[in-house]
Order: sequence, then C-alpha cells, then structure tokens
Amino acid sequence: MKSSAFQYELPEDLSSALKLLNSNDLDILPLAGGQSLMPMMNFRVAQPDILIDLNKIDSLKNITIEGDFVRIGSMVRYCELEQSEIIQKHFPLIIHVIPYIAHSAIRNRGTLGGSVSLADPAAEMPSVLITLNASIELSSSNSTRSVNAEDFFKGIFETVRKSNELVTSINIPILSMPKKFGFYEVTRRHGDYAIAGAVVTSDNGQDNFNDTRVVLFAVSTKPMRVPKSEAALNGNNFNNQDSINEAIDAVTGNSFERDLHNDETTKETLAKVSLKRAIGGLNG
Ligand SMILES: Cc1cc2nc3c(=O)[nH]c(=O)nc-3n(C[C@H](O)[C@H](O)[C@H](O)COP(=O)(O)OP(=O)(O)OC[C@H]3O[C@@H](n4cnc5c(N)ncnc54)[C@H](O)[C@@H]3O)c2cc1C
Repeated sequence: MKSSAFQYELPEDLSSALKLLNSNDLDILPLAGGQSLMPMMNFRVAQPDILIDLNKIDSLKNITIEGDFVRIGSMVRYCELEQSEIIQKHFPLIIHVIPYIAHSAIRNRGTLGGSVSLADPAAEMPSVLITLNASIELSSSNSTRSVNAEDFFKGIFETVRKSNELVTSINIPILSMPKKFGFYEVTRRHGDYAIAGAVVTSDNGQDNFNDTRVVLFAVSTKPMRVPKSEAALNGNNFNNQDSINEAIDAVTGNSFERDLHNDETTKETLAKVSLKRAIGGLNG
C-alpha cells in the first residue's frame, strides 16, 4: 500500500519546526529516522495531514557534555550513539544494548528521539533510559520542559508529549552510570522485537547490590520498574541466591499484558527468566 496524501515540510532549524507544529486543527507528525513511521503511513495506521521532516535540523544531532549530564540530541541515530566516544566512555550499558535493536540498516537511520517518542513497549531504549535516570526534554514554540524518563511513558505508543511539542534531547546524568549492569531479552531471532526483557543496574564498586534498578520491557503497556525486586536485592551480596530468588518472585503480581502470541502468564514467566539472566549477567 501507499500512504495517503500529505503535505511535506523540511525545516532547517528548530524554531521553524516548532512553528509548523503549532496547529490545533491538523494532524501533524514529525519524521525522524522513518523506520517506524514510514511503514505506519504506508499501512495507513498513521495518516498525517502534514509531515515535518526533522532531518535538516543540525542542532538536534549533537552529543555533548553539559555540566554533570550528557545531552543526546533527539536526531542522534543509533549508529552514531554506538560510535560516540562520550557514550562509550560514560554509558557502556547503551553500547551493550544497541546491537539488540533491530538490524544495522535500521540502526543507520533510526534515532533515539524516534524510539522515545514512539514508546513501543517492546523497545529496549526506554527501559535503559529509566535505569540511567534520564530525562526527556520537550520543546514547543513558547516553552521547554524536562520530564523524567520514568514518568514520560504512559502506555502503548503513548507518552506525555503534547502534540505541539518535539522531543529535543535525552539528558542522562553522568553520575548515574551504574558500576554494574545486566541485560537480557527473549526474541525469536536476533534483531526481532523482544517478547520479554529485563535491564538491571546496581551502583556499587564492591560486592553488594546498591541503588538497584530493575526494569522489565515487552511484557506490559510500558516499561515496568519493579521496586519490590530492587528492595529484595539492595544491600545483599551479588551472589546471594536467596535475595536473587526473592527479587525474581517479586515479579509476580505485576500487571502483565498479552501480545498476539503470548498470554499474560507466559509474559510473567518470560519476565522472570529475563530478570534471572540479567542478574546473572551483572558480574560481566
Ligand atoms: C523490522 C524492524 C525491526 C525493529 N526492531 C526494533 C527493536 O528490536 N527494538 C527497537 O527498539 N526498535 C525496533 N524497531 C524500531 C526502530 O528502532 C525505529 O527506528 C524507532 O522505533 C523509531 O525511530 P525513528 O527515528 O525511525 O522514528 P520515526 O519512525 O521517524 O518516528 C517514530 C514516531 O515518533 C515520532 N517522532 C519522531 N521523532 C520525534 C521527535 N523528536 N519528537 C516528537 N515525536 C517524534 C514520529 O512522529 C512517529 O510517530 C524496528 C523497526 C523495524 C522496521
């Protein structure tokens, strides 16, 4: 199928893009890497009146250190994240996870801002950003605000972003890089969207879990942080099987969502498997 007709705009700077976005009557969508939006338009799941292509806006393409955080422009592509010395130095968790996202052809075009804005519950980066205590910067033509990643995602393909706002950057505190991290996802084939997955981080150079974050993905309508699992691990040794088992048991009772092929019970089981293996990967 082909997309329905739309007006195409290619602004050269952010303020022009934000002005174009400012209409209450029309369905206006930003275009980033197009890896999700173009298929959605061709299947007519998305039928915007106006498409605002962000690809010429250079100010959205930088990765910079600003004080105590790293600012990643929303139009930074996965392949650029992977090659960035700043990201390699400060956020090895991001470098570790990128190869799990789709395939290199998609990573050559897909952007971090596009992934965050799309809010696919099976995507890896939203959960990674929650473990890293990132915040999402949103700009409209008359204001800019910052929303903690944990509060940004509301449901399937749903965020707190208003229709007149663009995601302009993703900001990650440098100090939030955990000393240890574990990641695991269940997929049918490498590069497929996850059926279930887990990210675990712990901020301690010694042998105990500390300031642990546990986030599950692809098992509910949005990334699922599991405070009870975190509490079970905190203060205990990385090899303490009782606390690890308690953390895995604490996954039970959360609200799991079925997908086309897996019911809620399967999702819960796969979430536990993912968490167990992510914890197992913590020691590298
Ligand atoms: C075959 C295939 C497999 C994939 N597998 C995975 C996977 O395993 N894991 C994964 O995470 N992703 C996967 N993806 C999705 C891929 O990572 C996309 O690139 C990503 O989800 C969207 O990024 P994009 O830059 O292409 O955004 P686009 O497709 O351009 O946009 C996505 C949505 O976000 C909106 N948007 C984009 N940028 C902004 C902005 N700055 N502000 C506000 N709204 C904005 C658009 O209007 C659109 O609604 C896969 C895609 C394909 C086609």
